[in-house]
Amino acid sequence: MFQGRYGNDRLNRTLFIVAIAASVLSLLFSVLGVNVVPTVFSVLSWALLLAALWRMFSRNFYARQQELAGYMRFESSVKQWWKSTFHQNVGNVRSFSRERKKFKYLVCPHCAQKLRVPRGKGKLRVTCTKCGYKFEAKS
Ligand SMILES: [Zn+2]
Repeated sequence: MFQGRYGNDRLNRTLFIVAIAASVLSLLFSVLGVNVVPTVFSVLSWALLLAALWRMFSRNFYARQQELAGYMRFESSVKQWWKSTFHQNVGNVRSFSRERKKFKYLVCPHCAQKLRVPRGKGKLRVTCTKCGYKFEAKS
C-alpha cells in the first residue's frame, strides 16, 4: 500500500499530535458546555488528520520534502525561542537564590523599609537607609 507513497515524516507526526490535542480540547470544551469552540477544535482536528493522511499517501515527494524542510525551519526557530526564554528565567531564579544565600533581608521596625545585610556576620548594628533608625539584628 505504501509502495511509491511518501509515507510518514516528522511533520506528519506533529500533525497527528496536534490533531489529537485538538480533539481532546474539543471534548474538554464540550464537557464544559462551551458553544462553538468544540466545533472549531474538532474541525481543526479533522483537517489536520486529513492533511497528515493526504501527505502520507502522496506521490509528490518533492513537494512533501519542501513542506518538511519548511516545517523543520519553523520547529527549530520555535525551539530556539523556547530555549532562550526558558534559560533566561532559570538564570534569573538562580541568581535570586544565590543572592538570598549571601544576604539577609530585614525590615526596619520604624518605617518598614526593606533592608539587605550580609549573612554570617553575627550581630549587626543596622542603620535604616530610609529613616536612619538604628537597630540590632542577627545576620
Ligand atoms: Zn526605617
